[in-house]
Amino acid sequence: MGTTYTVGDRVPAAGRYRCANCGNEVGFSEDDADEGIMFSSCPSCRAGSDGGPLGPDDDVWESAD
Ligand SMILES: [Zn+2]
Repeated sequence: MGTTYTVGDRVPAAGRYRCANCGNEVGFSEDDADEGIMFSSCPSCRAGSDGGPLGPDDDVWESAD
Protein backbone atom coordinates (compact mmCIF):
# COMPACT_ATOMS: atom_id res chain seq x y z
CA MET A 1 0.00 0.00 0.00
CA GLY A 2 1.57 3.23 -1.12
CA THR A 3 1.11 6.78 -0.02
CA THR A 4 -2.41 8.06 -0.55
CA TYR A 5 -3.61 11.50 -1.55
CA THR A 6 -6.80 13.50 -1.28
CA VAL A 7 -8.29 16.01 -3.67
CA GLY A 8 -6.35 19.26 -3.40
CA ASP A 9 -3.07 17.60 -2.49
CA ARG A 10 -0.20 18.60 -4.72
CA VAL A 11 0.91 15.89 -7.15
CA PRO A 12 4.34 15.01 -5.71
CA ALA A 13 5.95 13.52 -8.81
CA ALA A 14 5.31 12.48 -12.38
CA GLY A 15 3.68 9.09 -12.75
CA ARG A 16 0.41 7.23 -12.61
CA TYR A 17 -2.07 7.28 -9.76
CA ARG A 18 -4.99 4.94 -9.15
CA CYS A 19 -8.45 5.73 -7.81
CA ALA A 20 -9.10 3.78 -4.61
CA ASN A 21 -12.78 3.44 -5.49
CA CYS A 22 -12.91 2.35 -9.14
CA GLY A 23 -9.30 1.66 -10.12
CA ASN A 24 -9.23 4.34 -12.81
CA GLU A 25 -5.70 5.56 -13.44
CA VAL A 26 -4.59 9.10 -14.24
CA GLY A 27 -1.14 10.16 -15.35
CA PHE A 28 0.86 13.29 -14.67
CA SER A 29 3.95 14.50 -16.49
CA GLU A 30 7.05 16.07 -14.99
CA ASP A 31 5.76 19.41 -16.28
CA ASP A 32 2.52 18.87 -14.36
CA ALA A 33 4.44 18.15 -11.17
CA ASP A 34 6.75 21.12 -11.71
CA GLU A 35 3.75 23.40 -12.14
CA GLY A 36 2.31 22.26 -8.82
CA ILE A 37 -0.80 20.62 -10.26
CA MET A 38 -3.18 19.23 -7.65
CA PHE A 39 -5.23 16.06 -7.53
CA SER A 40 -8.86 16.51 -8.52
CA SER A 41 -11.83 14.19 -8.20
CA CYS A 42 -11.87 10.97 -10.19
CA PRO A 43 -13.11 11.64 -13.76
CA SER A 44 -14.59 8.14 -13.92
CA CYS A 45 -16.53 7.67 -10.65
CA ARG A 46 -16.40 11.17 -9.16
CA ALA A 47 -14.63 9.95 -6.03
CA GLY A 48 -13.38 12.92 -4.07
CA SER A 49 -16.28 15.19 -5.02
CA ASP A 50 -19.32 16.14 -2.96
CA GLY A 51 -21.83 13.32 -3.34
CA GLY A 52 -19.26 10.96 -4.84
CA PRO A 53 -18.49 7.44 -3.59
CA LEU A 54 -15.58 8.93 -1.66
CA GLY A 55 -15.79 12.46 -0.30
CA PRO A 56 -13.45 15.44 -0.60
CA ASP A 57 -11.67 14.54 2.65
CA ASP A 58 -11.15 10.86 1.82
CA ASP A 59 -8.01 9.30 0.40
CA VAL A 60 -8.79 8.88 -3.30
CA TRP A 61 -5.47 8.48 -5.11
CA GLU A 62 -2.52 6.20 -4.57
CA SER A 63 0.63 5.76 -6.58
CA ALA A 64 0.22 3.13 -9.31
CA ASP A 65 3.86 2.99 -10.42
ZN1 LIG B 1 -12.75 6.46 -9.48
